[in-house]
Amino acid sequence: MGETSAQSAPRGVTADGQSPGAAAPGGAPAVVAGRTAGGGAAVPQPGGAAYFTVDFDQTPYTVAWEITRACALRCVHCRAVAQPRRDPQELTTAEGFAVIDQIVALGRPILVVTGGDPLMRRDVYDLVAYARAQGLRVALSPSATHLVTRERLTRAHEAGAEMVHLSLDGATAEVHDAFRGVHGSFQRTIEILRDALDLGLPVQIGTTVSWRNVADLEGIAAHVRAAGARVWSVFFLVPTGRAKAADMLDAEGHERTLHWLAEHAEGAPYHVRTTAAPNFRRVVIERQRAKAAVPAGERPTWMLTGAGYAFREGQAPVQKGVNDGKGFCFVDHRGNVCPSGFLQLAAGNVRERSLVELYREAPLFRELRDPSLLRGKCGRCPFRDVCGGSRARAYAVTGDYLAADPSCVYQPA
Ligand code: SF4
Repeated sequence: MGETSAQSAPRGVTADGQSPGAAAPGGAPAVVAGRTAGGGAAVPQPGGAAYFTVDFDQTPYTVAWEITRACALRCVHCRAVAQPRRDPQELTTAEGFAVIDQIVALGRPILVVTGGDPLMRRDVYDLVAYARAQGLRVALSPSATHLVTRERLTRAHEAGAEMVHLSLDGATAEVHDAFRGVHGSFQRTIEILRDALDLGLPVQIGTTVSWRNVADLEGIAAHVRAAGARVWSVFFLVPTGRAKAADMLDAEGHERTLHWLAEHAEGAPYHVRTTAAPNFRRVVIERQRAKAAVPAGERPTWMLTGAGYAFREGQAPVQKGVNDGKGFCFVDHRGNVCPSGFLQLAAGNVRERSLVELYREAPLFRELRDPSLLRGKCGRCPFRDVCGGSRARAYAVTGDYLAADPSCVYQPA
């Protein structure tokens, strides 16, 4: 899923592998339904049909660039193990411009400028402005600290950031601040959300789900609604960096939460996305199949599309979905190119090889894009093209990035 589909206004339930791309408000899944007798009638084509033609082998949907690991927060689940000070080996501004040129050469995917806290770099506005000038759509993911003033939000917006991503991990200060490791973080987040709303800067709210806060999701959703957020991006904890395996939901917990999210999304005034939970797509498809039953002799024809996937029901289901290294790519602060921020295995470094070459040619990326290589139940699953399981979680739990995702209850025949 590349730029073409990114611009096709993804709507509704999405599960995109970490892409806070811009999206229009709307909570219901993007479903276009129909049915045909016998076979032969065309499947309806909603706006997201372009997903089927974008070649993930050439063009990612999203590139996330961790411009720094410096951050004033001390989040208990930080995948980056962020530090208070900047690493002297971070990519320089000039190297950053070269990375942006490479992202453009990949086919203009969405660029997520992340950290650490990207506002810990003074050149962040120059990087955003340069990317915007090259035609990239840019989202910025700052940490909720005193650095995020109204003035800086305005500056980021003027530089070209289309959306800011802020994290909210609890419905109360007690839960959120315990996650973030800093007293007052909840209050700061609420203030920043209010400022962004006042300034007309679209907001995406991210929540990392673990046993610590799964009971808080209803309350967090109320904040997402109150903040006027465009997107609620729900991350499912991957035990990497500072995140602990004991905090990760078990498979039944994932399933319950994914079904709750799918139902919640249908009535929400914002998009609901998941990260590190591509099996959300399987849940959404199964729910749609249950709803779209047709009389005997007829076959259902409907299509589901989101920011990270497209699925067409019919005689031979057609499916496509972003996953780690497949439609998604992560550049760390030192220039290492990884399949995602949660799967920090470096295929190479932009200081030595081009990002284009690494994304398209590196064996690690090629393997991750080949669902026939998946092992265990993910390998024989009928949803493996649209889902494929979280490769990051498979690696974090088993040491094998092609193993089955342990968070999924589904048992293929
Ligand atoms: S078994 Fe694997 S591929 Fe199939 S739905 Fe579960 S996580 Fe996805």
